[in-house]
Amino acid sequence: MCRHIAYLGPARSLADLLTERDNALLTQSWAPCDMRGGGTVNADGFGVGWYADTEQPVRYRRSVPMWTDANFLALCGAVSSGAVLAAVRSATVGMPVIDTACAPFTGDQWLFSHNGRITDWPDSMAVLAAGLPVTDLLTLDAPTDSALLWALLRHRISSGATPEDAVAALVTEVAALAPGSRLNLLLTDGETVIGTAWDHALSVLSGVDDVVVASEPWDDDPRWQPVPDRHLVVATRSGVRTRDLTDHTTKTGMT
Ligand code: GLN
Repeated sequence: MCRHIAYLGPARSLADLLTERDNALLTQSWAPCDMRGGGTVNADGFGVGWYADTEQPVRYRRSVPMWTDANFLALCGAVSSGAVLAAVRSATVGMPVIDTACAPFTGDQWLFSHNGRITDWPDSMAVLAAGLPVTDLLTLDAPTDSALLWALLRHRISSGATPEDAVAALVTEVAALAPGSRLNLLLTDGETVIGTAWDHALSVLSGVDDVVVASEPWDDDPRWQPVPDRHLVVATRSGVRTRDLTDHTTKTGMT
């Protein structure tokens, strides 16, 4: 399964956030710690999106292992941002290894990533896909489960659902239609990160003015907390709360 990470806080270099720490995303591309049977390495591509002084986030993605892109690694030292979402990919069997299949997916102010897979793809998703405008299907980034999830989520948000409710509903609906799916999502607009833990690893590190939501802790800081399975997490620079996706109640968890 892919690995992903989102950061909100004071501006930090991409190197600080993605490549320099003991278990940084770069390390997770070749030696992830907690794949839970979903592949071995994350070498089918990577992507990073960050918020800058532009209307929309900047996105860089390529279908090569992160460690092979020397230009990207050089860029990481020179680019800083206070809001970043990045991923390394282990393509699900049968899905193409191409740039446009790599997260983050983007549109308007959003960055989105999916760690996991949808069982019985694509048949299990025919019903949900049929509810999308044809033009959304014709302009999918790639013929993958993750790209479809992004199209579905984007459509629901632009139709008026709150991002949190849209993510919660999408995960529970897909899980009902395709039992056994792994649905760890990350969505951010640069101010809030919404994440889900659905049959895969997710952890949160919340500081005084920053927060990290990641598949795997980037170090052994004891403040990292695992997000319970089948939970949604809403993280901002000032706090974190979790929501149980199985009983549809909202409760305050980690702070
Ligand atoms: N199924 C998605 C893809 O193939 C995500 C893969 C993963 O999480 N390993 O892109």
